[in-house]
Amino acid sequence: MTTTTTPQHVVIVGAGIVGLGHAVAALDAGFRVTVIEQDAQAVTASVRNFGHVCASLQAGEIGDLARASLPIWESLITRAGVEGRRSGTIAVARSAAEEAVITELASERAPEGAALLTGAETATRLRLPDHATPRAGLLMPNDLTANPRTAVAQIAAWVGAHERGDVRFGTTVYGATTGAVETSRGRIDCDHVVVATGHLVGRLFPELAAAGEVRECALQMTRVRAPRDMGLGPAVVTGTSMLRYGAFAGTAADALRAELTAERPEFIEIDANVMFTQQADGTLLVGDSHITHDAAPPFLDERWSEILLAEAAALLGTERLEVLERWQGVYAVSKKQNFLIAEPEPGVHVVSITTGIGMTAGLGLGARTVASF
Ligand SMILES: Cc1cc2nc3c(=O)[nH]c(=O)nc-3n(C[C@H](O)[C@H](O)[C@H](O)COP(=O)(O)OP(=O)(O)OC[C@H]3O[C@@H](n4cnc5c(N)ncnc54)[C@H](O)[C@@H]3O)c2cc1C
Repeated sequence: MTTTTTPQHVVIVGAGIVGLGHAVAALDAGFRVTVIEQDAQAVTASVRNFGHVCASLQAGEIGDLARASLPIWESLITRAGVEGRRSGTIAVARSAAEEAVITELASERAPEGAALLTGAETATRLRLPDHATPRAGLLMPNDLTANPRTAVAQIAAWVGAHERGDVRFGTTVYGATTGAVETSRGRIDCDHVVVATGHLVGRLFPELAAAGEVRECALQMTRVRAPRDMGLGPAVVTGTSMLRYGAFAGTAADALRAELTAERPEFIEIDANVMFTQQADGTLLVGDSHITHDAAPPFLDERWSEILLAEAAALLGTERLEVLERWQGVYAVSKKQNFLIAEPEPGVHVVSITTGIGMTAGLGLGARTVASF
């Protein structure tokens, strides 16, 4: 940032976690910040997820951004009163193939405090009944769990209350060019624009979205009552999760994929990631399935929910889980790249995470973008 008497002005389009990650970074760097959000509150991907800030499960560039995000989340828990905690993550192995995957990752994550647990230790940690004792677990202590229903609203409130911050809800951006955005409430001049509109990136920049092969990934989620007092433990990921996250990639994960494809084809059919996070109100956020569309239809497939819930119930050692809510989430996805990051005009930064890890990497991405101004 160049030194001027008045701070430079950053306009951010979108009050999801990615837009707010940029807002926090810009305020911390001394900019004036205006966040423009079309809805009366953010209601898309950033509130529909698990709230799992899962740095331990990431690799490569995503891993770097995820590790950069962790201290920013910690600071927002303190500064903005964000409901979040250092929950850690436990990867639960219920088969030999899954145990091989977590054993492979354990040594890599050991310097960060990760520990392989026996089945009994895993059961104790998760307060599972004896009959649900798994084979083993890998506890990774550094990850966070936030309450996704409140986190972005709390961060937006903090931005809005900042002496250099402003958040305008109910305002739609129609166009972003060098030095200005056009909105449904008039033009706003600025020095830098950040367009963080998630899966809606193609509405403002259709050519960029098309070139980046950005589509919509639809996921089915449920909130269930915990089957017993589970305390407030780690986020739980399972065998299907081991097929998704970069940190698990390797020969053991390839073998697990082959095994699940043969023995549990329904998981492959719905591209399942059976996992849950524990929330302070005694409920669990359980998911999820994945399917890619150009425009995601809103309909939830009950059979898919049953597949996910049955596996979560088996892990938890209960007959069935009491479902309190169901919903669909949609995030931007691309087969081509993990991020759509472009500067179509000088000073106009388009940032969309296209691999479903915005809660994990979004704050670090914000810091990286703002550092380039
Ligand atoms: C079911 C589900 C589970 C997930 N679980 C996790 C998880 O546990 N951990 C993790 O790291 N990630 C998770 N993700 C991914 C994560 O939620 C997303 O990557 C992230 O929320 C994307 O944030 P965003 O700010 O880019 O998009 P969004 O949250 O969609 O925010 C974009 C905002 O831009 C606004 N907007 C769009 N166009 C305009 C416009 N023209 N003018 C003004 N405003 C506009 C929208 O209204 C919206 O509020 C999950 C996603 C889903 C759907």
